[in-house]
Amino acid sequence: MLIRLRKRTTAAERDSIQSLCNELGLRSRFLDDAREMLELEGDTSAQVRSRFEDCSGVQAILEASDAPEAFAKTAERVGTTVRIGPAEFGGGVASVIAGPCAVEDGDRLLEIARAVQNAGALALRGGAFKPRTSPYSFQGAGTDALGHLARARAETGLGVVTELLDVRHLEAVAEVADAFQIGSRSMSNFALLKEVGQTQTPVLLKRGMAATLREFLLAAEYVLAGGNPHVILCERGIRSFDSVTRNVLDVGGVAYLKQTTHLPVIVDPSHAAGRSDLVPALARAGLAAGADGLLVEVHPNPSEAHSDGAQAISARTLAEVVRDARTILEMDGRRLATPQPELT
Ligand code: PEP
Ligand code: MN
Repeated sequence: MLIRLRKRTTAAERDSIQSLCNELGLRSRFLDDAREMLELEGDTSAQVRSRFEDCSGVQAILEASDAPEAFAKTAERVGTTVRIGPAEFGGGVASVIAGPCAVEDGDRLLEIARAVQNAGALALRGGAFKPRTSPYSFQGAGTDALGHLARARAETGLGVVTELLDVRHLEAVAEVADAFQIGSRSMSNFALLKEVGQTQTPVLLKRGMAATLREFLLAAEYVLAGGNPHVILCERGIRSFDSVTRNVLDVGGVAYLKQTTHLPVIVDPSHAAGRSDLVPALARAGLAAGADGLLVEVHPNPSEAHSDGAQAISARTLAEVVRDARTILEMDGRRLATPQPELT
């Protein structure tokens, strides 16, 4: 049950409502910073409801389903900022996450980490556990890869993002990751969403390849409802009939999400394009539509990549993507996050 309080309710009125909650054995909490929407849990039968109806300060008694969804943009929650190590997303600031599709070996990962850092990325993304369409394709280097990510993180200071595919890996992944990636194929894995909702580790949630925007937002709601407010939405392209690109980047969807939710929204031009030559254009389009950052696949030798080589760009191209990102963000009154100087 929800109680909407009148604007400018006095402290004495709030106290008397609180005492009535205590008397009736109800748990209560405010859902908003303005302390106008009070949620009550316990026996909310008609008799109990009627006790609140005449209380001074009460404007309306509502059903729990009338509560605003936690992802929704409101007057108080306009633009949430989420950080992944030194990378910052939202509130007018954008960052670039880059790295190989899959972590291959330790030295190669470190080489890529240094290259993407020099190109302007503030977070490294590499998969240790890979969700592959075929069970015979490379499934990721698993726990060895987590070790390589930990080393790259320690040596570069980059934030680390890696995919969490299975709740059984949660603790091991949480030890090295500054953010869990929940991939497109797992967007509707509600058990996984509930588990990451119980943590305070940021969650980079990718849109299911056939998910509506409402389904995408409700997947984020699972994480928020569990108590983890650090969610970044990632548009990575949706399936269509044309095979020229791997998916279709939904730029309209990005603009809609930016209007609808206070959560940061980033774009993955790599999985949208499926081909390296179109990645810079899609990155620019995503930022122009309002995205708060990019997730880009980079590999020094795409023909040797264990997965998604066709869409990997070079670190040199990434530097151009970052340069263009800076220009677009500045035109829009926003800025690209820059590394903080180390304290000595
Ligand atoms: C990936 O990020 O490498 C990946 C598998 O992405 P998606 O879940 O968007 O397909
Ligand atoms: Mn990939």
